Amino acid sequence: MSQTTTLPTSTPLGDVAKLIDGGDMDCGSGLLLLITRAMRRLEAGDVLAIRSAEASVVTDLPVWAELVGHEVADHLAETTAGPWWFSVRKDGARAVDDAQPDAGTVFSIGDRTPVGHRLWAYTNFDCNLACLYCCAESSPKADARRLDPDVMRPLFAEFREQGGKELLLTGGEPFMHPQLGEIVDAAAGLERTILTNAMIFGRGRRRELLESIDRDVVMQVSLDSATPEIHDKMRGAGSWTRALDGIALANSLGFRVKIAATRFDEDPEGVRELHERLDAEGIAAEDRVIRPVAAEGFADGGIHVSIDSLEPEPVITADGAWWHPVAVTNPHMRIADAPLDLEEIFGVVRDTLKVQDAASAAGREVFRCA
Ligand code: SF4
Repeated sequence: MSQTTTLPTSTPLGDVAKLIDGGDMDCGSGLLLLITRAMRRLEAGDVLAIRSAEASVVTDLPVWAELVGHEVADHLAETTAGPWWFSVRKDGARAVDDAQPDAGTVFSIGDRTPVGHRLWAYTNFDCNLACLYCCAESSPKADARRLDPDVMRPLFAEFREQGGKELLLTGGEPFMHPQLGEIVDAAAGLERTILTNAMIFGRGRRRELLESIDRDVVMQVSLDSATPEIHDKMRGAGSWTRALDGIALANSLGFRVKIAATRFDEDPEGVRELHERLDAEGIAAEDRVIRPVAAEGFADGGIHVSIDSLEPEPVITADGAWWHPVAVTNPHMRIADAPLDLEEIFGVVRDTLKVQDAASAAGREVFRCA
């Protein structure tokens, strides 16, 4: 595990403005995000010290520094097997900054949403289900870690002011958050989507909450298969039937309903059957997402993800920000700590993309998979 610290500025390489202990992180995972974030807080000419126990950093860090225009001022090894120390001087003239235009990257596939247009938010981490592949490690017993509407109100206002367009609220099960309505209202003016398993808003207080939500809010419901077998195997007995009931209710109340299926394999026949089922439910073709399981959280299989393989989809939680919503239990994908600073979150993402683009343009390999 690694950490950023403001502790001793005195290091074996002399006094520095800031020290990062990168632990065993490599440049292709959390270390790059840590360094990028720290560099944004330094002035030109300031020196950042980095201590690392990861051998690949000895090769990768100087390459990174050259790409982004910083200078590795000094380095030493505590032993031949590490850990290693580096001091890096920030070069304000060449270092990446927000004035540079965004560019494409070859490290990822798919379209990139312009950084700053879309924001994800984990409203809470508790859930009525405990799905076998849950990337957020949510369950009825999970620490709720709820977003505070009073904290979100100014943050969403700032997001709108700086050009934000789209907010996706996920969890956990968002309808477990007693103040979900306040959070949704705080984001008025944005394109809002709530990701839900649609199982708990059928009656009582949560039914009232559902009915009170603006009808321009989209409900994205999880439904993994055309019949109960696969869905219930992953999500729990009876969950498929209740999800369909929830879809019908949301539809009847006038919400646009999207469907997201999570699957371990391609299974063309199963996908075809799911599409037929969604045709019967009146779900438009453009409102269907079929995605692979990510090897994150509870999942014991699935697609390996890293900042190199995933286009950034910045996500905030009660206690920090991450690169992508499928990786909020992965310390290598962490962007920021609470209290959340939206400018820093998007700034770190932009800076990281620029480093990736610079590496791509130079034809150099900097980012190793964790
Ligand atoms: S995958 Fe979704 S529905 Fe399942 S436990 Fe996680 S948050 Fe809850």
